[in-house]
Amino acid sequence: MPPLSVMFKTVSTDCNLDCHYCYYRESLQGSRAQRRIENEVLERFIPEYMEYVADVRQANIAWQGGEPTLAGLPFFQRVVQMQEQHAAPGTVISNAIQTNAVLVDDAWGTFFAQYAFLVGVSLDGPQEIHDQMRIRRGGQGSFRDVMRGIEVLRRYNVDLNILCVLGPHNIERVGDLIRFFRGEGFSHVQFIPAMDFQAIEPEKPVNYLISPEAYGEFLVVAFDSWFQGGGPTISVRIFDNFLQSYVNVPNDLCVHSNSCEAGIVVEWDGSAYPCDFYIHPAWKLGNVLDRPLSKLVNEPRRIAFVLQKIPLPMECVHCEWLSVCRGGCPRNRMGSATAASPDYFCRAYLRFFPHAHENLRSLGRDLERYREYVRNRASGPRGRNEPCPCGSGKKRKQCCEHPHRQQSYVFHQ
Ligand code: SF4
Ligand code: SF4
Repeated sequence: MPPLSVMFKTVSTDCNLDCHYCYYRESLQGSRAQRRIENEVLERFIPEYMEYVADVRQANIAWQGGEPTLAGLPFFQRVVQMQEQHAAPGTVISNAIQTNAVLVDDAWGTFFAQYAFLVGVSLDGPQEIHDQMRIRRGGQGSFRDVMRGIEVLRRYNVDLNILCVLGPHNIERVGDLIRFFRGEGFSHVQFIPAMDFQAIEPEKPVNYLISPEAYGEFLVVAFDSWFQGGGPTISVRIFDNFLQSYVNVPNDLCVHSNSCEAGIVVEWDGSAYPCDFYIHPAWKLGNVLDRPLSKLVNEPRRIAFVLQKIPLPMECVHCEWLSVCRGGCPRNRMGSATAASPDYFCRAYLRFFPHAHENLRSLGRDLERYREYVRNRASGPRGRNEPCPCGSGKKRKQCCEHPHRQQSYVFHQ
């Protein structure tokens, strides 16, 4: 059984920024309620989840928001205490958090390093680009605060992953973005296209902020810059994902997997959903407070959701790139998830795959080169010969370090 991943919407829609493109606003007016995951939700769910993953000894938990650090450090300290208390011995616990880093200070840095959190920081490029979209409620840009938070994370050698949202403000600035991210020495970067939709209204059509043509062009130029004549040195997640298909590794991005098997999403009040693009009563699986986890996971509505990608639109069935693309995301199908039209970004993929195919294939064929690339990514900004932060006394590389999941700590009993 593969490990079940859980995403907590830690503070629901609450956030200390007011980014123009946020898809998780409470309403079209952007009002945000102040909510936190309730204690009883944690107390009920974490023991149950740890028991659920005891056989596979792998727990994958993502903390998202809104802005999850608004829950406060004591909240997360309680979380790791509970994880340790209820984990089976030897369980590898991976915590990942997606933050704007505005609140990150030394106390957070110490905590993230101690428990090997993977910290995703939202950063849209250099200041003049980032500050166009990622603003405070008063309209001021957040770039300086974000970079200050990143400096703290670097000081504590925290695993850092940059999330860059692509919109009208940066889609034609690929050169500036790559130069900036390289110049800053970031080892892991992820690009995702902005979509102006409400996760709580999945029946409404999405308003896309960039065209497939612009996204396709972005991918082509970014790929050439990443590939560097055959020796990529930083991790760009979408290229890593496509590369997985060339080395017969299951894609770890649901958009390019065979099904919508993306774990479960738990809201602040315990409501559970199959995907954070579908936080809607029609897709609610139940509440963790009154339904056992095994029932939520096997809920017929979740099974139906997982399979909603299938059948594929005819374009995908006959597409020569299906083995790499796998049909994209049903939320991006025009009209509805089961509509006969392919993913909105299909034309971007059709521009990208022929361009990148030979280079991805050659990198995938040369397994040694691929492994070296993975090793380089895993070594990241911190030393793998240093003592492991889990306190085992072993080196990182002999303990919690893993080529694909270095953001983990092992619970030793
Ligand atoms: S709907 Fe899209 S985002 Fe949600 S699980 Fe499916 S592919 Fe992933
Ligand atoms: S590239 Fe387009 S047609 Fe081909 S599998 Fe992907 S979404 Fe479907």
